[in-house]
Amino acid sequence: MFLKRTLAVLLSATMLFGMTSLSTTAATTDTEAVSAGNYYNASYLENYASNAYNEKNLGANYTKSSTEFKVWSPEASAVKVKLYATGSDSESGAAVLGTYDLKKNSSTGVWSVTVSGDLKNTYYTYLVTVNGTTNETQDVYSKATGVNGNRSMVVDLDSTDPDGWDNDNHVLFNNAQEAVVWEVHVRDFSISDTSGVSDDNKGKYLAFTEGGTKISSDTSANAVSTCADYLVKSGINCVQLMPVYDYGSVDETITGSSTNRNWGYDPVNYNVPEGSYSSNPYDGNVRIKECKEMIQALHDAGISVVMDVVYNHTYSTDSCFQKTVPNYYYRLNRSGKFSNGSGCGNECATERAMYRNYVIQSCLYWVNEYHVDGFRYDLMGIMDVETMNQLRDALDQVDTKVTMWGEAWTGGDSYHPTKTCDGTKFMSAVQSNAGSLSERIGIFNDSVRDAIKGGAMSIANTGFVQGSKGEAEGISYGLFANSNGNYKWKAKAPSQSVTYADCHDNAALYDQLVASTASGDYGKRYEDLVKMNKMAGAIVNTSQGISFMLAGQEMARTKYGDTNSYKSSPEINKINWNNIVEYQDLVSYYKGLYEIRKNFTPFTAMDKSYSSAYTLNQPMGSAFSNQVAFTVKNDQPDEWQTMAVIHNAA
Ligand code: CA
Repeated sequence: MFLKRTLAVLLSATMLFGMTSLSTTAATTDTEAVSAGNYYNASYLENYASNAYNEKNLGANYTKSSTEFKVWSPEASAVKVKLYATGSDSESGAAVLGTYDLKKNSSTGVWSVTVSGDLKNTYYTYLVTVNGTTNETQDVYSKATGVNGNRSMVVDLDSTDPDGWDNDNHVLFNNAQEAVVWEVHVRDFSISDTSGVSDDNKGKYLAFTEGGTKISSDTSANAVSTCADYLVKSGINCVQLMPVYDYGSVDETITGSSTNRNWGYDPVNYNVPEGSYSSNPYDGNVRIKECKEMIQALHDAGISVVMDVVYNHTYSTDSCFQKTVPNYYYRLNRSGKFSNGSGCGNECATERAMYRNYVIQSCLYWVNEYHVDGFRYDLMGIMDVETMNQLRDALDQVDTKVTMWGEAWTGGDSYHPTKTCDGTKFMSAVQSNAGSLSERIGIFNDSVRDAIKGGAMSIANTGFVQGSKGEAEGISYGLFANSNGNYKWKAKAPSQSVTYADCHDNAALYDQLVASTASGDYGKRYEDLVKMNKMAGAIVNTSQGISFMLAGQEMARTKYGDTNSYKSSPEINKINWNNIVEYQDLVSYYKGLYEIRKNFTPFTAMDKSYSSAYTLNQPMGSAFSNQVAFTVKNDQPDEWQTMAVIHNAA
């Protein structure tokens, strides 16, 4: 696969020059591709797909007396299921337990067989013969796997539920704008010695379940809380987990290596938790149970859990998808090569019926089985508007408060088909198509991000908080979550915009402040930069839209100037919990901002009902100023009636 670094560079370029023009000019059409002779017969497969679309139980369906295996593979001439005792041949007790033929339903293209006996914890693969080649692959619909996700496992999901799971409830918001989103990587959360987490749980799912953690160096009675306790005390009510599905870039058989870590934007098995965060990646049950325990612990703390999902591409095209239905799940360009709109070597075809269905069922599975409360869609611009809206509808059937937001851009030239499987016009879920997306699908507002701290293209760029004149315009539109007038792009309503100053991509806020003002050393406290950081937080939290930040923005987290730390060392990526002492004033200031936000309805109203209540002291579009000031009237009887906000970078 292409490196994430490539993606980040492309992303930066698209931020700067505008995604719309790039993705539009890069589009090719079905007609062009077919005339070039490189496009397989999609309509032939889509006929099967439409018949198979309502199949809800593809995969291994376990009961004590038998297990049914079902897989969609319309072009295959034969499909067998091969049973194994272990998830890999290198484990003790490894053995092949048998092979069974599946039978094809000629209408749906679904192959199935029921194997009698109790197959709980039996590992399996499919042998799919297609175009004269037999591929061995794990199940596209895996719910459990062995180490590194190479073999699927028959799982009794009920037995993976932690104690009290039946009483675990979603933590949801009336409006997504009530969320204070804290984006964190499972490993970075606790891997530092300062986290106070036990050695066994450092970097793992279970770190989130440890209560009473304190900064490890502090043994005093009033020692400062870290990790989950810190989140509660600091007022953060929503954690966005960077990828926790099973991804490919970390070798789960290696432990204790500081270099064997990655952000994880490289999916292998979408419906299985990543193994390297579990205490035992070999037993398919353990990662499931421990992932649930993490979510349960966050729920117990009153914290909503958003999952970062990457349906736009896979780790490689040597995947279960490609081995099961060749070329169906990926877009090909006019040369017949894998289109690379992700910047990671391939892009998935959400407009095709069985992949659209897959994405919808996958999200529903995480909501229902793992009690996930929301989703963040990576490179949502590769996905199509119709799929995103159908996802919104499907999640609404569970609860309309399940949150959704995503990156409404691509990571490179994306191949655009002309139509989706149901004949509707193909539209990518990019910012310029916001008007066609549900207003309850948030879009990362990179224009306000860049206005706050300077463009993401370079860590040396300055924005409003560093005193750059020319950014007040972006800030003033950002106040309304880009929903009041068109500034680079236009949201339909505040609920459609995610307001932020930093995230995992590009520089951490404090690092950009250090670099762009030439203050000196990364990770060092500078009083003027702390003030700039406070102003960035104040702009985000006094804006409409969904408030979002990289974990640690509120404690001046540094990644030592690393602007693409996807595989950098723990020294770069770890959260240093000592910062909550050194920047106690900053943490406290942010907490105050959340309180103000929570107690002033116009900031979190989901529709545009309060937009006319704002009076800016300068017209929208006034660009060259160090001040953005406004008043907001509020008609909620128990709240402040008017608020004046002055962001004064001078
Ligand atoms: Ca993995």
